[in-house]
Amino acid sequence: MSSSFLAFCRDERPWLLDLIHALVAIESPTDDKAAVDRCGTVLASRLAELGARITRVPQTAAGDHLIARFGTAARQVLIVGHFDTVWPIGQLARMPIVEREGRLHGPGVLDMKAGIALGMLATRAVMSRHALDRVGVTMLWTTDEETGSDTSRAVIEEEARRSDAVLVLEPALAGGALKTARKGIAQYQLTVHGVSAHAGVDPRKGVNAIREMAQQVLALDAVRDLDRGISVNVGVIHGGTRSNVVPDLATAEVDVRAETLADAAVLDRTMHALVALTPGARLKVTGGFNRPPMERSPGVVRLFTLAREVAAAMGARLEEGATGGGSDGNFTAALGVPTLDGLGAVGDGAHALHEHVELEPLAFRAALLAGLIERLVTE
Ligand SMILES: [Zn+2]
Repeated sequence: MSSSFLAFCRDERPWLLDLIHALVAIESPTDDKAAVDRCGTVLASRLAELGARITRVPQTAAGDHLIARFGTAARQVLIVGHFDTVWPIGQLARMPIVEREGRLHGPGVLDMKAGIALGMLATRAVMSRHALDRVGVTMLWTTDEETGSDTSRAVIEEEARRSDAVLVLEPALAGGALKTARKGIAQYQLTVHGVSAHAGVDPRKGVNAIREMAQQVLALDAVRDLDRGISVNVGVIHGGTRSNVVPDLATAEVDVRAETLADAAVLDRTMHALVALTPGARLKVTGGFNRPPMERSPGVVRLFTLAREVAAAMGARLEEGATGGGSDGNFTAALGVPTLDGLGAVGDGAHALHEHVELEPLAFRAALLAGLIERLVTE
């Protein structure tokens, strides 16, 4: 019964806030393994208090990932989130943990330490009513989501393949809507090799790499199709040494996004088929999609429908939406495992100085998650 979950989660609000404070108080920038591991150690001890069987997945290039298993069933529901943040050590002094006008501020509170705490409270609520002997709950808390999940992707995919459903505790869309579609994200590096020459003495002998790159950048406009959800952004460009030298090298970094797996495949072929337009210039293209699109598949819709029923039983209307940003839900959805994202906290300012979560909806969000998990583990 979802309404009793709401009562449970309201009663446990102090526990929830204490946990959020504890996690935000330990800064955990992705590139600082020691710091991330300090946060992971506290998280692991809190998970152990709930009776989880914990596996630390050791890493050298990132913090250790944490897997926490509840129940002994072979089938499982997977809860996914990350405890690394984009904020450097010392940010806490500049944006301290503070409650103000119904909001809790702090680095990483929305993205996504409050989400982790919500997942733990929801699981407590479910365990207060069910033994998890038919379907278990597994939590996977990772440490490198903010830099592309290089070390965690394989672990995420391995756990997802064994799961009936994946619930991702990234922040909600504005107003609390869940995320049922995410764009796929590709990074490409373009390198143009030209021929250097004295710009004054031998200009005809040179092949200007910057000029060629400029043509490539403009040609990419033809690849972009915003109405279709295809974005192309040349975000970084380098080239040349001095104004009196015809440059023989120019490089560019391009962010490409697409809504469907089919579009992503076409785009990838298009990018790798780019050729130099200037005689004597050579173009090299490297890169590709590191997060496939999360499509709004029938499995995703089924999960959202369940969540919407749980919310309706608590008298609330739950909305859904899409985003151009990626998460680890992109990986699990692309495997064909039903995935629902944006189940974390409601707030604003991820990666921004005003990062905060709304306090009032926290109990409802935990109860929503608990009700959804209950449906998944008992059906
Ligand atoms: Zn983030």
